[in-house]
Amino acid sequence: MTRHETDIVVIGGGTAGVVVAVRLAQRTELHVTLLEAGPSDEGNPLVLDYRRWMELLDSALVRNYEIAPQPFGNSAIRQSRAYVLGGCSSHNSVIAFVPLDADFDHWVRLGADGWSPHDVRPYYDRVLDTVPLMLPPSGSPYSQAFIAAAERAGYPTTDFRQWNGRDAAGWLWFNAKDTTRMSSSVAYLHARAVPLPNLTIEFETVAHALILNDHGECLGVRTSRGEYYASHEVVLACGAIGSPKLLLLSGIGPADHLRALGIPVRHELPGVGQNLVDHIEGVVIWETKTPVAHGDTQFWEAAVFARCDATSPWPEIMIHFGILPFDMHTRAAGFPTPEHGCSMTPNVTHPRSRGTLRLRSADPEVPPIIDPQYFTDPDGYDLQVMIEGIRVARAIAASEPLHSLLAAEVAPGSRGTTEEELRRYIAQTCNTVYHPAGTCRMGSPSDETAVVDPRLRVNGIERLRIADASIFPDMITVNPCITCMMIGERCADFILEDL
Ligand SMILES: Cc1cc2nc3c(=O)[nH]c(=O)nc-3n(C[C@H](O)[C@H](O)[C@H](O)COP(=O)(O)OP(=O)(O)OC[C@H]3O[C@@H](n4cnc5c(N)ncnc54)[C@H](O)[C@@H]3O)c2cc1C
Repeated sequence: MTRHETDIVVIGGGTAGVVVAVRLAQRTELHVTLLEAGPSDEGNPLVLDYRRWMELLDSALVRNYEIAPQPFGNSAIRQSRAYVLGGCSSHNSVIAFVPLDADFDHWVRLGADGWSPHDVRPYYDRVLDTVPLMLPPSGSPYSQAFIAAAERAGYPTTDFRQWNGRDAAGWLWFNAKDTTRMSSSVAYLHARAVPLPNLTIEFETVAHALILNDHGECLGVRTSRGEYYASHEVVLACGAIGSPKLLLLSGIGPADHLRALGIPVRHELPGVGQNLVDHIEGVVIWETKTPVAHGDTQFWEAAVFARCDATSPWPEIMIHFGILPFDMHTRAAGFPTPEHGCSMTPNVTHPRSRGTLRLRSADPEVPPIIDPQYFTDPDGYDLQVMIEGIRVARAIAASEPLHSLLAAEVAPGSRGTTEEELRRYIAQTCNTVYHPAGTCRMGSPSDETAVVDPRLRVNGIERLRIADASIFPDMITVNPCITCMMIGERCADFILEDL
């Protein structure tokens, strides 16, 4: 097997991985090798034009992972992950948010020492100095009507870049410039005026297992294209599905699970693949009286945040407004798709249900078992918030000026009147917002269920860190892409500080 040597290996050229690699390679004394399973995004209009993100769902650059059968909730949901430079930031709908201070106060309470709002703020500043944001250039009149109706329904219009977490509605910010997505690869790599001669990017290179020595040190990684050894450190940035999968394939994880698959246990770490959390999303669809002008964006231009409980530190509901009938799961459940329509997608900002990621096989080519366990929290909190979200959506739809534009609610419509009907509807038609996180949870060094410590070092393994959505101690209120870039910035700083 070909042997390659470098100073730092970053595995996964995705949202966070590109940021780590670029920031480290700016230190010219370090040679950094970035290993990416997919191809480059450069020059590919399907990836670069953010308006085409839904086409990517069916493309060869994306894997749509099946989920395990769900006890309550829609087992037909697919967890979509992009295998291309920039990762899911090359695939997503470019909605850009900085989370609330309350999200990071909560992370600190969960053991993420040093991740307070004050600690993370400079790293968001770095991201936003690099990644340009914009508002929808010519917002649809329907999105405009949604925002105005939300104001009438009690959700004041706000600029989400100045937002303090109160219940509010507004236009979404996009990490994009004109029609080009500002993924981590575009903003951090392709837009660079100065090349990075000490950064090597290996494409179509799939990591199969970490190389560990008998002293619990990570030396490198075995891939489809040879072995890569790092004289200094290895950073795992394969995302909330890929990172726990690679740890498990390397013998790092819950011992029983590894033994059951015949994988030698190199280090028992029970938290690997636990704590899977995701933004679960419902949908309400209306037929509109006239065709919906699509504007020039990605169909999702506006949102509202709402509280169920006035004392909650964050709005428990986020609703995206879509200028299309978003029928991904309603059609299969027998609901009509109108020719002209719009949608609201309430999602639970802080779901309490927790799932798992497990290996199906010791073969790296075999997809893992992703079991989100949607709506299984013992108190039924997630379901109650979702039902309340549908009520908020309907209240906005009943307010002017949106109300006059709508012909009828078609899903759930008359089949979603009682609480019992709504439960059934949600179970049939809910979707993911594609925000899986938490599968290599960060926690205090004394927490045996945590996978990484607050400096992102894998507990019990030397020279190995993780930087991606898998380290989230809990879900944040908002869409997570910019936060994954922030984690990349922090990880690079931790490595440089420890040099
Ligand atoms: C369809 C969709 C829409 C979304 N919309 C939004 C949105 O509008 N706003 C928002 O904030 N968030 C959105 N998200 C979520 C957000 O994009 C992700 O949470 C975030 O990008 C995840 O970043 P990451 O660094 O954790 O992982 P990723 O960006 O997924 O990076 C992982 C990288 O690792 C590589 N990799 C994986 N396994 C291996 C391996 N074995 N060997 C080598 N390389 C490997 C992958 O190819 C990939 O490049 C969306 C996600 C999707 C899928």
